[in-house]
Amino acid sequence: MTADVIDGKQFALQIRERVASHVSELIDSKGITPGLAVILVGDDPASEVYVRSKGKQTVEAGMNSFEYHLSETTTQGELLALIGQLNSDTAVHGILVQLPLPKGIDESAVTNAIAPEKDVDGFHISNAGMLSTGQKAMVPCTPLGCLMMLRARYGDLSGLNAVVIGRSNIVGKPMAQLLLRESCTVTVAHSHTTNLQQLLSDADIVVAAVGRPLFVSGDWLKPGATVIDVGINRIENAEGGTRLVGDVDFDSAKSKAGAITPVPGGVGPMTIACLLANTVTACYRAHSLPEPLELSI
Ligand code: NAD
Repeated sequence: MTADVIDGKQFALQIRERVASHVSELIDSKGITPGLAVILVGDDPASEVYVRSKGKQTVEAGMNSFEYHLSETTTQGELLALIGQLNSDTAVHGILVQLPLPKGIDESAVTNAIAPEKDVDGFHISNAGMLSTGQKAMVPCTPLGCLMMLRARYGDLSGLNAVVIGRSNIVGKPMAQLLLRESCTVTVAHSHTTNLQQLLSDADIVVAAVGRPLFVSGDWLKPGATVIDVGINRIENAEGGTRLVGDVDFDSAKSKAGAITPVPGGVGPMTIACLLANTVTACYRAHSLPEPLELSI
């Protein structure tokens, strides 16, 4: 068997087009332009790249992008004051604070200071609670993107066995919650799991969010499984340079799985597309308008 390779770039493009069409409808029929504020503290080069890309795609979708680049020496109090100001700014529908934050700033305090309805990363404790109790939440972007790809493949996910590898608050846990909502039978594996290979041998769906290069071998998979590889790892290549790989050994998995996301070009592009989708959803909700169903859950 050769797995279908799920094209995350194409998928993300479709989402961005849908976002753009909802944005132009909001502007034309209601005079409302959705706005996303992104705050970067410090000069981490990788974070700067992400933030630039987010800003560019926000503008391309027709939305307002408000960017705040604060110095490394910004205090927690100053950051919280800016968040407070953005919470009450009606032109801002989504607020994202780029993580990681410099030492000395408490990430939970910052995340939980964002108004939950503007928390387009879905990391606020209220959104985590609402997701886990089946209420309407802002859903973390990466798991939302994974779910969209799984829904497109299966339609109805109910009754499928899903194994999520990783239990982080930003990927593993919300992913497991989303799959539970879809009526999958969900197992969460983590660093203390002793029988991962056995669990995977019966998994229709595998979501790998571990952060260990090529960790999951194709031999471990159930034939025909759908594999969503969230991992982004940089390893050395044969020429002495580096290349990006996922948590799954793509080459061996491709001959056993039914479908698989590549790295790069799989889950990665979906994350920013879902950030834009969440911003539009937040805007519809802020104005008590019926939200586009295909952009949220
Ligand atoms: P994390 O370090 O917070 O969590 C890793 C998880 O893996 C932990 O829960 C840990 O228990 C589990 N784990 C570690 N060793 C294991 C083992 N031997 N067996 C089973 N589980 C094990 O990482 P994270 O933030 O959830 O990110 C995971 C990966 O996904 C990273 O490579 C990260 O770069 C990537 N990521 C990608 C995107 C994207 O947009 N594509 C977004 C977020 C994270």
